Amino acid sequence: MQVRKPINVRRREVLEAIRPQVARYHSKLVDYIREQGNILSLPGLEVHLASSFGFCDGVRRAIEIAYATCHMFAGKRIWLIGEIIHNPTVNARLDAMGLLHLPFLPDAPAYDALTEDDVVIIPAFGVPVQLRRRLENKGVQLVDSTCGNVMKVWTRVRSYAKMGVTSVIHGKARHEESMATASQSLGEDGMGNYIIIFSEKDATMLSEYMLGRGDKAQFMAHFAQSCSAGFDPDVHLAEIGMANQTTMLKSETARIQQMLRSTVQERDGSDARFHVFDTICGATQDRQNALFELLGRPLDAMFIIGGYNSSNTTHLAHMAARCLPTFFVRSAECLTDLHRVRAFDLTAREERTQELPPVVADLTYTLRIGVTAGASCPDNVIEEVLQRLATLRNCSLPLT
Ligand code: SF4
Repeated sequence: MQVRKPINVRRREVLEAIRPQVARYHSKLVDYIREQGNILSLPGLEVHLASSFGFCDGVRRAIEIAYATCHMFAGKRIWLIGEIIHNPTVNARLDAMGLLHLPFLPDAPAYDALTEDDVVIIPAFGVPVQLRRRLENKGVQLVDSTCGNVMKVWTRVRSYAKMGVTSVIHGKARHEESMATASQSLGEDGMGNYIIIFSEKDATMLSEYMLGRGDKAQFMAHFAQSCSAGFDPDVHLAEIGMANQTTMLKSETARIQQMLRSTVQERDGSDARFHVFDTICGATQDRQNALFELLGRPLDAMFIIGGYNSSNTTHLAHMAARCLPTFFVRSAECLTDLHRVRAFDLTAREERTQELPPVVADLTYTLRIGVTAGASCPDNVIEEVLQRLATLRNCSLPLT
């Protein structure tokens, strides 16, 4: 059977038609704050917005693709694999438009029922190779919203596979993007290898093993769900190539790369069998750098806005939480009063009620808050959070 090519739905006339729908994610208030140098000074409230925040180009493109697909294929069954991006507000809106969901699991039986009449959208993170092949074999109409930055990582790990180099992927083993990248690191012949490490603790374990100080059974038990089938650490760690999930914390990735380079150097007497290519995307780096700059200012609290399953947003929250009281909220609904907020607890990994610093409720004091948002958070959600905070503090915002 001839493989059906993915269709380009971002045609000029289609983008024109969906423009009003996509415009809902804009915010005049956020544009206004940008024009003011990202600082909004009101009596009683100072908002410091990071110099880089919110939607990246990859997310903007994926959302346009989802809307454009609904426009072009109105009346057909349109499926989305997992979530188009990790933002609850955007995803709820797409669900309301009738998008159907398929699980992000290559073996899921749900794919058996697809026919050539079905349209399937690949999310911005991409999908594993075996899942894409399965979809192609079903003859469905594919619409591919995989971000170009993710595809760059794939090119890198495929080249490692060609060279017989094992990919060491710094990422979350169950994150869609890392699953897709891992599948690509098997290479065209499927003979490549990978191991996914999530933390510096994982990297230390890998390093210790490479230096002959690890226990094989323990090592394999720890990485059982995050390495290629048939992975043998005695064989497959001889030559390694680093890659990242595009949304990891830049500073942590740099430390892991340095640690593993030193490990190879110590083991071999040279780092010739260590390869590295930084695949953290520019949008992630920009948002982390901008937050770093913001954290140098005298602020009372920080609000990080975005989906709780968004990797890049979670890293922003971790960065800020080390410096000042930080509240990771998904939407304005999280703010109910000036004493408490519903926010994602980074340790418990769930939304919990958290106490706000007492100055938040002191209306005689000019509160200084920092605000940023992950790459999948639309400006209108940022506006709603600011509006809610301003209302609670009896401030009136411009343009609202
Ligand atoms: S965060 Fe980076 S890799 Fe992810 S969609 Fe945005 S630009 Fe692409």
